[in-house]
Amino acid sequence: MTGKSIEELKAQVSARVDELLPELTALAKDIWDHPELGYEERYATERIMTALEGHNVPVEHGIAGLETALHATVPGSNDGPRIAVLAEYDALAGMGHACGHNLIASSAVGTFLALKAIKDDLNGAVELFGTPAEEGGGGKIVMIEKGAFDGVAAAIMTHPMPDIGAGVTGGYLASSKVTIEFHGREAHSAANPTYGINALDALVMAYVGVNGLRQRLPKDVNISNRISHGGAATNIIHGFAEIEFQVRADKWTTVEETLQKVIQVAEGSAAAIGCTIETRFTIGERVEKPYYMEDKQVPALQELVKVNMQELGIKLAPPMPGVSASSDFGNITQIMPGIQPGMPIPGAVTGPHTPGFAVAAGEQAAAESYLRDTIRMMAWSVIDLLNEPGVLGRVQEDWATAT
Ligand SMILES: [Zn+2]
Ligand SMILES: [Zn+2]
Repeated sequence: MTGKSIEELKAQVSARVDELLPELTALAKDIWDHPELGYEERYATERIMTALEGHNVPVEHGIAGLETALHATVPGSNDGPRIAVLAEYDALAGMGHACGHNLIASSAVGTFLALKAIKDDLNGAVELFGTPAEEGGGGKIVMIEKGAFDGVAAAIMTHPMPDIGAGVTGGYLASSKVTIEFHGREAHSAANPTYGINALDALVMAYVGVNGLRQRLPKDVNISNRISHGGAATNIIHGFAEIEFQVRADKWTTVEETLQKVIQVAEGSAAAIGCTIETRFTIGERVEKPYYMEDKQVPALQELVKVNMQELGIKLAPPMPGVSASSDFGNITQIMPGIQPGMPIPGAVTGPHTPGFAVAAGEQAAAESYLRDTIRMMAWSVIDLLNEPGVLGRVQEDWATAT
């Protein structure tokens, strides 16, 4: 420890961010140029490892049994608390980086490297976690179940937003998906239909049945679906059909209850036609609890981040009630205090999962501006958590009583 004040450390980190910016902007663009789906992010992880190793940081990859998960540590000046900075790098099918995870990756790497410059003055460690497959694959859920975050005191990451200002409140909905297979019996649809058992008929009854279910569900429950297999040909009675349901709600326990009701409707429909069903959870092949959980709100952590945003001149967005998505970051906040502020990409008009947002996330000047603000805000917040006496304790108390 050199006895520097928090203000001195924040100034030093900000200067370091400016030095790192060209490299980080190039990293964000390179990942954007090579979009990869969840659990296939080999180019992105290679690229991040090369960047970190270029700064003499050893990287563990393939942690938690996931090829594209990674972990690196900057030890502090003592055995103080460990703070996690989380990266994501998966893209969307057919839309490239329309969720801007290339910026999430580069801002996390940048925060980690900027804090490395003051490691001898930090009262604890900073750890970078590369978390695969946020878009539906639940990489963080697997990592949690494998114990990758055990002993970590708090977590921070960001998400790009349209150019409407920054936000600190998150508000993720819990979510899960179930795929239901209907199994019947094939037959010639004209010559011998009586021999057939039509799996598609059972599926359609389930589709309609779940629509009927909606009126007796709580208002916060949202159900969406897609028919992923609707039969092979019109001249065959369909022996197989498949539908996927996604359920979202304020609490993961409500999602769990609702999924059971959906499955009951499918069982009843299958029984009526003489089919059988098999169910599988889309993220459940890998984990015990296949749910994206709601995020726990930690006001003390939100306040700390907000103050840093204001000091950095980052404009805050007006509150947007009812605007929400889901993320496996919600699961992180169930095991430790965590925050994922939304940060605006300059010039982005439309929101994530639109072609316009993909374009904005790849624009060089916008990326540079996004990264400068975002990395400073995250690094400053980590400095507060580690070095400001009592702050982490207050955040953890707040988290312990959050619902
Ligand atoms: Zn997304
Ligand atoms: Zn996203």
